[in-house]
Amino acid sequence: MFRRGHLGVAMLTLAPITFWLLTTGYPVFATLVAGTVLYLAMLPDVDHRIPGVSHRGPTHSLLFAGIVGAAFAGAASFVEPVLSVAVPGGVSMVAFGFLLGFGAVFTHLLGDVITPAGVNFLWPYPKEWSLYLTSADSMLWNWGLFGLGVFAMAGSVVLAVQGVALP
Ligand SMILES: [Zn+2]
Repeated sequence: MFRRGHLGVAMLTLAPITFWLLTTGYPVFATLVAGTVLYLAMLPDVDHRIPGVSHRGPTHSLLFAGIVGAAFAGAASFVEPVLSVAVPGGVSMVAFGFLLGFGAVFTHLLGDVITPAGVNFLWPYPKEWSLYLTSADSMLWNWGLFGLGVFAMAGSVVLAVQGVALP
């Protein structure tokens, strides 16, 4: 899947989460989560640029998602003692950080699993999963997912803001 398709899948995933964060009173977290997930939407494809690492190998796995989640959790563990803010869902900041990092990578894998090359979720165990919906370079799917993502994201923000404005 290309960048546009990945951003589309990320926005489709973010839409309900953004709605939930906005309607429960966490606009800062909503912005933080959306920004982080969109910023990291192409992170697993760094494997194109690392010599010796196969494409859709180690960086396209649940293990990698866990490592990125752990890095976020680690960063959060430094922030948590000095910055006490209410975290959505009532979880700790560390748990929230893990979910954010894990989720950002996982949404990329969702974009790739619909293509025939599939995703090796359990790397290093060699098995590819694929839904065989479209080839990665399909203009229709890349633009379609992007369009749907923008629509869903805009819709969730509008609905959330209108809902908040109602008495
Ligand atoms: Zn990829």
